[in-house]
Amino acid sequence: MKIKSDYSNEPQWKEVTVKSTLPKALACLDEIAHNMWWAWNYEARNMFKALDEVLYEEVGHNPVQLLERLSYERKEAIVKDKKLMKQVGEVYKKFRAYMDVKPDSKRASVAYFCMEFGLNQTLKIYSGGLGMLAGDYLKEASDSNVDLCAVGFLYRFGYFTQSLSMDGQQIAKYDAQNFNSLPIERELDENGNQVVVNVPYRNYQVHALVWRVNVGRIKLYLLDTDNDMNSEFDRPITHSLYGGDWENRLKQEILLGIGGMLTLKKLGIKKDIYHCNEGHAALCNLQRLCDYIEGGLTFNQAMELVRASSLYTVHTPVPAGHDYFDEALFGKYMGDYPARLGISWDEFIGMGRTNPDDHSERFCMSTFACNTCQEINGVSKLHGWVSQKMFAPLWKGYFPEENAVGYVTNGVHLPTWTATEWRKVYDKYFDKSFMGDQSNEQIWHAIYNVPDAEIWETRMALKQKLIKYIRDKFTQQWLRNQGDPAKVVSILEKINPNALMIGFCRRFATYKRAHLLFTDLERLEKIVNNPERPVLFFFSGKAHPADGAGQGLIKRIFEISRMPQFLGKIIFLEDYDMQLARRLVSGVDIWMNTPTRPLEASGTSGEKAEMNGVINLSVLDGWWVEGYREGAGWALPEKRTYQNQGYQDQLDAATIYSLLENEIVPLYFNKDKKKGYSEGWVKVVKNSIATIAPHYTMKRQLDDYYDKFYESQAKRAHKLEAHDNKLAKEIALWKESVAERWDSIYVVSKNEEELQDIATGHKVKVTYTIDEQGLNDAIGLELVFLKNAPVDDVNIHKVIPFKLVKTEGNHYTFETSFEASEAGAYKCDVRMFPKNSLLPHRQDFAYVKWIG
Ligand SMILES: *Cc1c(COP(=O)(O)O)cnc(C)c1O
Repeated sequence: MKIKSDYSNEPQWKEVTVKSTLPKALACLDEIAHNMWWAWNYEARNMFKALDEVLYEEVGHNPVQLLERLSYERKEAIVKDKKLMKQVGEVYKKFRAYMDVKPDSKRASVAYFCMEFGLNQTLKIYSGGLGMLAGDYLKEASDSNVDLCAVGFLYRFGYFTQSLSMDGQQIAKYDAQNFNSLPIERELDENGNQVVVNVPYRNYQVHALVWRVNVGRIKLYLLDTDNDMNSEFDRPITHSLYGGDWENRLKQEILLGIGGMLTLKKLGIKKDIYHCNEGHAALCNLQRLCDYIEGGLTFNQAMELVRASSLYTVHTPVPAGHDYFDEALFGKYMGDYPARLGISWDEFIGMGRTNPDDHSERFCMSTFACNTCQEINGVSKLHGWVSQKMFAPLWKGYFPEENAVGYVTNGVHLPTWTATEWRKVYDKYFDKSFMGDQSNEQIWHAIYNVPDAEIWETRMALKQKLIKYIRDKFTQQWLRNQGDPAKVVSILEKINPNALMIGFCRRFATYKRAHLLFTDLERLEKIVNNPERPVLFFFSGKAHPADGAGQGLIKRIFEISRMPQFLGKIIFLEDYDMQLARRLVSGVDIWMNTPTRPLEASGTSGEKAEMNGVINLSVLDGWWVEGYREGAGWALPEKRTYQNQGYQDQLDAATIYSLLENEIVPLYFNKDKKKGYSEGWVKVVKNSIATIAPHYTMKRQLDDYYDKFYESQAKRAHKLEAHDNKLAKEIALWKESVAERWDSIYVVSKNEEELQDIATGHKVKVTYTIDEQGLNDAIGLELVFLKNAPVDDVNIHKVIPFKLVKTEGNHYTFETSFEASEAGAYKCDVRMFPKNSLLPHRQDFAYVKWIG
C-alpha cells in the first residue's frame, strides 16, 4: 500500500489539571495567596516576591499563579532557606492575628451590591472609579472589622486591556481569565459542591456559579454564568463589564439584583442594610419585595420594610448616565413580577418612571432605586446637591433643596494607595494610633516634624521608581507596537527625573477635558522645554470602546507626544490599571484634573495623590471643592464664567498655563543651592498631607456611611419589623388611609387676608380649617415663601409651619403667625402634607396639596 502523507484522527481532549502541591511548611502560603489581604500589606507582597523574583514579575504579581508555577526545586530550596522561612512565618503570624479577631457585632450589618470591584490588578473585575471605590470600601470594611458582605460578578473577560497602534488608535483586547489561577475560591455547599444559584428569567432559569473572594475578613461573592448549564444566549451575561447590548445589560442587572439576593438567601445571609452602590443592583429590592409578599405581607407593608433597610448611592451627575430599558424589553424578562407583587403591570413599570402614567417613558433603574430605597446619597457635597436637583422631578411637591438626598464624599483606602516609602515615614513619625484613627488631622500634623530633606528624598525616590517602572514596562511594548526604535529609545532616555512631573490619568471621557492642556501648543512648548525648569506630562487612561470622541482624544495626545518638541515631554502610558495608577499617583509631583464642572461626581485619584505628598491642580469640582486649602494645592476658579463651553475651555486652559508659568514651575525649581531642593515646595507638600489627606481616607467614608445612614436606618428597620412587623403594618395602613382620603380633604375656611399686605416688623396671622375626612390629626400645613427668582438654583426663601390650635369633629384648625424681617418680592402658598413622626422624611410619602 501507499503510505499516506498524513493520517490522523481527531484528538479527544480531556480536561486534566495537575495540581501543584506545596510542602507542608509552605501550606500557609496558599491560605495567604487566597486572601486579598496581601494586596494591601506590603510585607506580604515582599514575601511573595522573595520566593522567586523573576517568576513574580512574569505572573504579574499574582501570588496564586506564583505558587502554582514555583518549580519543585525552588520549593525545596525555599524550605531550606532559613531567612526566607522566617519571613514567611512572620507574615503568616501577622495574617492570622488579623484574621482571628472576632467581628464587631455592635455596628449595623450590611450587604453591598456593585457591578465592579477594584481590589487588585490581578482580578480584572473592574473598569474605573466605581470599581475602585467598591474595592477600597471592602478593604476598609475589613480593616474596620464591620459585618459586611458583598455581591458582584466574576467576568470572563473583564474590562479590556489597552494598547495603541502606530498611529495612536486604541486597540482593545479582551483576555479570558483563567479562574483557577486567580486569588478566588469556589463557594462550596455542605457536600463540597460549588454553590449554584438559579435565577428566574421569565420562562427559564439562568444558573450562576458562586465564587468567593476573601477580602481580609470580608466575603465578596461573585456570580458567573459562563458555564455549560446555560445556553449560548446566557453564558455571556458575565462575559464583560459594560459590554454587550441593552438586553445583555438588563440580564446582567437581573443577575446582580435578583441573583444577588437569591445568593445571599441560599447562603443563609441576612443583613440589616442592603446597599446598592449605583443603580445597577436596584432589582435586589424587587426580590426582597417578593420575599416579603410571598411570606404573607401586602405590597404596601413589604415596601415599608424594604425601603427602611435600603440605601442607594448614585455616582452619576447627569440623567443620561442612568440605565433605561424599553417597555417591551423590560416586559420580556420582568412580565411575571406584577402577579408576584399583587400589582398591575402599569403600577410595576411605573416604579421606574418619573411620571408613572407616562407610557412613553422607559423604565429607569435609578428611579426604581429611588422608589424602593429610603435613603439616597451622592458622592461629594456638590454632587449631593446636583443629585437633589437631578432627582427632584420624582417628588413634585418639594423643591430640590428640600429633598432628602444626602451625600458621603468618596475616600480612598490608605494602605492600598500609600506608597511603602510613605508608610514608613508615617510609621516613624505619626502616633501609634494612626492606622485606627486615620481621619484625625491632629495625628497627621506630625508631618511637620519630618525634616524637609526626608520629605524631598521620599518624593525623589518615588519619582525614580516611576521612571524605572516605565522603562521596565514599556520599552519592549513600545518597540513591538510603535516602530521606530530610535524614537522609542529617545523618549525613554529623555525622561528626566529632575523635571517637574505632572500626571493626568483617568478614563478618557470628553467631560474630563484631557485636551485642555493642548489648547495653545506654542505656549505649552515653552513650558516643557525650559532647560533650567523642565516639565514633563504623563497621560494615561482608557476610552470606552464605543466612545469615538474619547478615542480621538487619545489619538490626538499620542500624535502630540510624537512631535519633536514634545518627545519625552508629553508621554502617553497605555493600559491604565491599578498597578500603573499606584505608581503614577505616588510618582509624579502634580496631579492634574480638569473636568467640566459639575460633571465629576467625586473623583478619587486626586485623593490617592494626597496620601503620597503629590499636589493637586484641579477644577473646583467633586471632592476638590471640599478638599482644596490655600497653600496646599492649586484650584481653577469655581464659578462658571461663560455659558459657551468653548470659551470656558479657553479660559480654563489659560488659567492652567499661567498657574504653571507663574506659580507652580517657579516654586518647584526655587531650589536652595546647598540643600538641593525647594523649601517652598516641601511646605506645600507638608500642608497638603497635614490638612487635606486626613479627610479623604476610606475610613472616614465608611464611618460617614455608618453615621449618616446605616445605624439610623438599621434602628428604624428593626423597630418596623419587631413583633411580626407590627409597625410596618401600622405605617402601611396609615398611609393607605391617608391616600384614600387625600383628594377629598378640603379647606373648610381660611383667614389669610394679612398675607396680602405684609410689612417688616409687623406680626402676620394666618388661619386654616381643614376637614380631615375621618383621619386623626394626619395633616400638616406650612406656609412656603419662594424667592421671586431662584438664586444658585435655590427657590425657597422660608418655610413657616402651622400649629394645630383647635379640633372639632373632622375639622382641624391651624394657625401660624410670623414677622417678616426682609423686605422684597416673594411668592407664597400653603402646602398640605401627611404628618407622621414615624416617617423618616417627607419624600417617604410625598403626597402634597397646595391649598393657598
Ligand atoms: C483611582 C482610579 C480611577 C478613578 O480615578 P478618578 O480620579 O475618579 O477618575 C480609575 N482607574 C484606576 C485604575 C484608578 O486607580
